[in-house]
This record gives sequence, C-alpha cells and structure tokens, in this order.
Amino acid sequence: MSALPIFPGTVDAAGQPATLGVMGGGQLGRMFVHAAQRLGYFTAVLDPDAHSPAGRVSHHHIQAGYRDAQGLAQLAALCGAVTTEFENVPAAALQTLAASRPVAPGAAAVGIAQDRIQEKSHFTASAGVAGVSCAPYAVIQTPADLQAVPADLLPGILKTARMGYDGKGQIRVRDAAELAAAWVELERVACVLEKMLPLKAECSVIVARGWNGAIVRFAPQRNVHVDGILAVTEAYEGNMPAALAERAQAATESIAHHIGYVGVLCVEFFVIDDGSEHGALVVNEMAPRPHNSGHYTLDACDVSQFDLQVHAMAGLPLPQPRQHSKAIMLNLLGDAWLDATGQPRTPDWQAALALPGAHLHLYGKTDARPGRKMGHLTITGADVAGVKATARQAADILGLPGFEGGA
Ligand code: ATP
Ligand code: MG
Repeated sequence: MSALPIFPGTVDAAGQPATLGVMGGGQLGRMFVHAAQRLGYFTAVLDPDAHSPAGRVSHHHIQAGYRDAQGLAQLAALCGAVTTEFENVPAAALQTLAASRPVAPGAAAVGIAQDRIQEKSHFTASAGVAGVSCAPYAVIQTPADLQAVPADLLPGILKTARMGYDGKGQIRVRDAAELAAAWVELERVACVLEKMLPLKAECSVIVARGWNGAIVRFAPQRNVHVDGILAVTEAYEGNMPAALAERAQAATESIAHHIGYVGVLCVEFFVIDDGSEHGALVVNEMAPRPHNSGHYTLDACDVSQFDLQVHAMAGLPLPQPRQHSKAIMLNLLGDAWLDATGQPRTPDWQAALALPGAHLHLYGKTDARPGRKMGHLTITGADVAGVKATARQAADILGLPGFEGGA
C-alpha cells in the first residue's frame, strides 16, 4: 500500500512520477485530470472507450474494461492512489485496487450509492439525525411486494434500485395497474416506488471529506431538472431559504461521516411544498464523486470540487473553498447542436462567448445526441441580477431550456 500523502511533482525510488488514477473517462474524469495535472500530478484513466473525454487529455489511458484484471493491475502499478468518476463502476474493481492502493471513495460507500435500497436505509440512519427524511417509499422485489404497496404511495415514481442515471430506469405511475405494468417494463428487477412529491425546488450539497475525517463544504446549489436531467444550477447566497440550506448541509455532513466517506460527495435534496412558508427538505440521492451541479465551482470558487477530489484522495489538506463570484451554470446537451428539424448545427458561440462572465467548458465529445452532456456554460458576476440577466441571454442564444429567471 503506498503511503499518503502523495505530493505532486515528486518521483518515487523507481523513478516514477507521482500519478493519480481515475476509473472512468467521462467529463467528470476529464475535469479531475485537469485539476490533478495543474497541481503537477501525472494522471492515468481507465476507460474502454478509445475516445473518452478524460482519456484524451490524460498522460496514460488504459483502454480496458472496468473488470479487466490486467487493466486494473496496470492502473494500480502506475498510480499512487485511485478515484472514480462514475457511480456505476463495479464495486469489486475498487476492492481489487484497494488491496494495493488507497482508493477514495471506497468500494463500500460507492456500493451504497449504487443501490437505492441501501442508500435509503443509510439516509434514514444518517440524514435523519439532521431531521431530513427520504420520500415515502416501498421496496419492490417480489410480486408480493407489489401487491402490498400502500395506496398512499400513488401516484409515484418507480425507480430501478441499480444503474439509474439522468432519469433513466424510472417510470411515473398513477395507479396500481400502471405500477404493475411499469414493473414488467423494468423487467421485474429490484425497484423502489417513491411517492410523487410536490416539489417547490431542488438543491444539492457538495462536501469533501479527508482520510482524517475533516470536512469542507460548498454552500447548497439550487438545481433545475428538465426531463430528469440537470439543466440549470444557481449558486449564490439567497438561492434558497437559509434555514433549509443549513439543514441540507448538516444532513450531508452526517451522511458523509456515517459511512466514513473519503473524497467529494454530492447529496441531492428536494424542497417539497408541505404548506409551510419555505417548504420541507427531503433527501433524494447521493453521488459518490464530483457532481454536475458543482461545475460552477471551477469558475466561481477559489477551490473547485475537482481540486478537492485531488486533495482528498492524495491525503493533502482540504482547504475550505470560498465562492468569489455569483454563478449560474447552464448545461449544454446535444440538443443545442441540433436545429428544429434535427439537422446538425453549430451553436452560436460568437454571441455566447461575447457575454460578460461567460465560461465555456466543452468535454471533447464529437457526437452530439439529444440528452447527451456535451459541455456547460457558467456565467459568473459580482451581482445576482446581472448574472441572471446574462444567463437569460445565454439561454436564449443557445436555445437552452430550464432557466426561468432573468431580468
Ligand atoms: P441523476 O442523474 O441525478 O442520478 P437519477 O436518474 O438518479 O438522476 P433522480 O435524481 O432519482 O434520478 O430523479 C431525477 C429527477 O426526477 C429529480 O431530480 C426530480 O426532478 C424528479 N423526481 C425524482 N423523484 C421524485 C419524487 N419522488 N417526486 C417528485 N419528483 C421526483
Ligand atoms: Mg438525481
């Protein structure tokens, strides 16, 4: 087991430069690689795709499957520590790597996040401490479970326990008949049925926890989803009621401590309309990695979520981040590269890049498909009204949905 901390720019006895590894080569891996390289680390990405966004920019790209023993051995041989950038990475692969290298987050935490059933019982035990509960739900694994579903969980959303993301593996159901049909459609895999809640808003909290249990945090972001995919993140003081923000932070920290989490963790919350002035907080799910809703930290904070992932896994100190600019992030899905008739087009970068405080991040994907995350645009500024007005312009120029605000 290599020793922590791993300092950047160092060379070991065998002449190997300090190298950090990541399982997965998507955009989160790419932004992680950029952060690690800026600090002076070499990087290694394991991803089967020859054209993966992170593989293209990393010192090493091990083109192998996530369970490939040889690929994992190669990654462990190259790297002082390993992280992951997507949550469906096989937990067994992380376990294999952990036999010889520090792995953050660990297989156990990733395993919990991969299974909504485990995740919910974990939330009940940990977020409950902060007075935040899950949506009312039932586990459906057998026909008997289906029969036993209480009527007050309907209408609801049937979600597969495993392998869901961006709203995939979810079916909205109004009554018992639709529920039964939906479970057949999901091939009778283990599922949870969640009661459909009246959402006032959605938010997420990102924290980083070190090997020593120290935690640093970003303030909660307010998120807007369109068709189950994140569209907009608004990050500035006053984006949500202070009491709810504090409670979401406390719940997130409690969740991280409860599983001895190491690395960057994002927890998603709903604000539901319970008749009270500000509404009540409900914990939805967690992502054991940096998160799309934290991309604004690259441009609006002095330390980004990717910097913190690097620090946490390598055993470096975790600086408390400071947000220096108000920010609104707009996700750029493949739809922005298609016109009304589905023909390819180039988004109007000329106009978008002329906007004050506009930061464009494209992930190096050449094939634009509807719903595919191609990049994001963060608007930063000194005041909320200005940032909102500019985000409104950007959304109009690029034809982006989900942003309701603006001057
Ligand atoms: P992600 O990409 O965040 O991993 P996911 O596919 O895991 O997404 P969820 O976060 O469970 O899916 O749900 C996606 C979106 O669907 C939520 O952000 C929310 O807008 C809506 N949604 C999910 N569950 C509920 C619910 N119980 N009541 C109302 N809306 C919900
Ligand atoms: Mg989600």
